[in-house]
This record gives sequence, C-alpha cells and structure tokens, in this order.
Amino acid sequence: MNTIPFPDYRHRHLLGIEGLVPIEVTALLDRAEIYAQRNRSPDKFSEEMRGRTVINLFFENSTRTRTSFELAAHRLGANVINMTVGSSSVAKGETLIDTAVTLNAMHPDVLVVRHAESGAAALLAQKVNCAVINAGDGAHEHPTQALLDALTIRRRRGKLSGLEVAICGDVLHSRVARSNIHLLNVMGAHVRLVGPRPLIPSGAQELGVDVFYDMREGLKDVDVVMMLRIQMERMQGNFFPSVREYFRYFGLDREKLALAKPDALIMHPGPMNRGVEIDSDVADDFERSVIREQVEMGVAVRMAVLEILAANLDHTESTSTLEKR
Ligand code: ASP
Repeated sequence: MNTIPFPDYRHRHLLGIEGLVPIEVTALLDRAEIYAQRNRSPDKFSEEMRGRTVINLFFENSTRTRTSFELAAHRLGANVINMTVGSSSVAKGETLIDTAVTLNAMHPDVLVVRHAESGAAALLAQKVNCAVINAGDGAHEHPTQALLDALTIRRRRGKLSGLEVAICGDVLHSRVARSNIHLLNVMGAHVRLVGPRPLIPSGAQELGVDVFYDMREGLKDVDVVMMLRIQMERMQGNFFPSVREYFRYFGLDREKLALAKPDALIMHPGPMNRGVEIDSDVADDFERSVIREQVEMGVAVRMAVLEILAANLDHTESTSTLEKR
C-alpha cells in the first residue's frame, strides 16, 4: 500500500489557517524548521520537488512573497513559472477562472495565487486539479505569512502557547492579521487587537481576542508586538486625521514599546511605512526586532508547504469540478 508522505497534513490545498488544527500547523512548522536550518548552510539546494511544476500566479503586486515562493521552489528542485496578471476590476472573476482553466491544462503541480478579492484562491481550487496555495486574497487570509510569523516566534520563544501577542494598526484591511488570529488562537496564544476604532473590524471580539483602542493599554506586558502596515491602497475615505496623528497614537516607538515586556519581540510583515506605523529606531533594533528573520523564515515555510502539498498530491482528493487529474 502506498502511504501518504506527510500524514499530519492531509489537505489538498493551503487556502487559509482557519479550520486547521494544531497537529497540522505543527507539521508545517516542524518541516519548515528543517529548511530554516538547511537554508543557513552552504548547501541549500535539493531534489524534493524534482520534476514538479509550480506556477506563481499574481494578480496583485508583490515583491517579497513572490520572490520567496520562487526561491523556495527553486531550492527544492522544482520548475517555476511566474505570471503577473494585471487585473481589470470589471472582469476579475471571469479573468481568474479563464486563467485557471488555461493553466490547469498545462498540468502544474502547485499553483500559488495572490488576488485582490477575498475567496479567489478557494474559487480557483474548484477549477484546477493541482494543489493551490493562497498567497493572499483581499483582506481575507495570507496563511504562509502567519506560518512564518509563528515559526519566527517559536524559534525565539520555544513555544506559542501562553504567549500574549498584540496585533496593532490597520487590522480592518489586513489578511495578515486574520491569518495570525486564527493561528495564534488555535496554538494557544492570546491575541490583543490594538488600533483606532475605524481600523478594527466590528465584532472582532467574536474571534476570541481582546480589543484595545489605546495602544499604551494594549501593549502592557505583551510578549510580541506585531505591527501592521497602513493599507492606503485599500482605503476609501478617511480612517484617521493625518499620518502625524496616527504615528503619535498608534506608531510603535521606544516610549510605547517600553510598556511591553522588556524582551518583547517586534514584528512587521513588510513592506514597512517607516514613521507611520513604526519608528525606524525600533524597526532596526537588532536586539528586539525580528523583521528580517521573518523574511528568512518565509522561504523555509514556503519550502515546507510546497513540498508537503506536492508530495501528498496523489493521496489527497482533488476539489476540482473539472475532470479528474
Ligand atoms: N505583505 C503583506 C500582504 O500582502 C502585508 C502588507 O501588504 O501590508 O498582505
């Protein structure tokens, strides 16, 4: 009998963190840990994905995430094709499906997709026979970001459970926040959302988090301060009076950071708006800031996810409504 290579993660895709259970998250993180170590050695390349094809399909701009997936696939010996598609807002749904069906005919093994619409990756998974990784869909989820954040924290603190994590800033527009809330909750950490009222989604408490509209209150004694980018491109209307005001009340600087635990980690998914949500002084603090390590862990996490999905492909059910593989 052919046994499934990675029995602890049996999903066909990685569309989000919501719904994953601790054993699945741990399986992905443990595998990523191996790659994190290997990526620091001189010999970074291997053959785990030899013969496999990965397509990076990006409908939204991205530098670091696309590069990170590309490097991850290369390091595992896969062939990688990058497609950056300018999305016309009128025909977005149609474009997505047409593109998916076309790509499907080329028999990729893994499709990595980023799209401005929530649910785009899940929709695509219905139209293709390969594995799909959500690399960010609108304000919905960005699962590999949450995994790389978790790996970074776990390496520094040795655990996730019992930690107090403040996610600060533009939570409303952030898929990073949403994926992190699910992951940290399921792994036993406690999440606080900190930000101005208009940038915290209504009903946020139902996600099992505490909400603080005063950053000084919200940062008290936390283990991790996770800053979010102000997402101007997703804002219609005025969410705060001015950048200066925002920085004064919700920008992370030395003074506000002093309220967190003395060894609290500083995180940011990038790209950073320096002087808006974070002061350069704390962003570049070698002792406390793990922002560069997050980028490093990103490659390791994406290697793990790509490898596991590709290896399990013949043992997981296609969710496609098209013909079977
Ligand atoms: N790079 C992250 C994302 O794609 C965070 C951000 O853009 O602010 O969601």
